[in-house]
Amino acid sequence: MPSLRQALATYINHNAEADELDNIQANKEIVWTENLLKSIEWKLFEDLCMEFLRIKNCDAKVTSTGADGGIDIKITDRNGIVFAIAQCKAWSKPVGVKPIRELYGIMAGERIKLGLFLTTSGFSEDARNFADGKSLILIDSREMVEAINQLAPNGRAKLDGLIRQNDYQTPTCVNCNTKMVKRTAKTGPNAGNGFWGCVNFPRCKNTMKVRKQFDASSTHQ
Ligand SMILES: [Zn+2]
Repeated sequence: MPSLRQALATYINHNAEADELDNIQANKEIVWTENLLKSIEWKLFEDLCMEFLRIKNCDAKVTSTGADGGIDIKITDRNGIVFAIAQCKAWSKPVGVKPIRELYGIMAGERIKLGLFLTTSGFSEDARNFADGKSLILIDSREMVEAINQLAPNGRAKLDGLIRQNDYQTPTCVNCNTKMVKRTAKTGPNAGNGFWGCVNFPRCKNTMKVRKQFDASSTHQ
């Protein structure tokens, strides 16, 4: 028979999730977890990273809306010169070496001293090895959550506000910069399954996979 322990574990997990949502709704301080981070859609994750860098006294600006021209955030010094660039990826799979190489290539091309890569997931060993000894800082979900939870209360409140005041889980269309809508595939191999479509369909045919709860699937594409 299904053990009592199992039933209890299910009950506890269920309540833990409900608590997380209750806290968000009840205006209490949000306890940031890796699961919460992973449930944030790509555009809001960029905003979150930018706000986080600003709280850390960086003069940070978002430079592109998705579509991946490369840099997501530029950080300038007191003289308005870019001294660091940051890429933010709301991915579920670990970031491999390729995007890290690309970031490093942009830094070299534009003579930028420092590169940051922030993700809702982790980094492959190749990626870590490549960054080792270079002016690249890789921030994974664990480090990000720790850093957020250690912020002073007013900094935390700003990030909590981003979650509270936005529909943080519904993805943004990379082409149109509007929230997507959930649709059901009528034909094809995914018939019957839900997907995110653009409100501007058929003008915009961008679609995205629906994430399992608290599991970010690939973004941007
Ligand atoms: Zn669109």
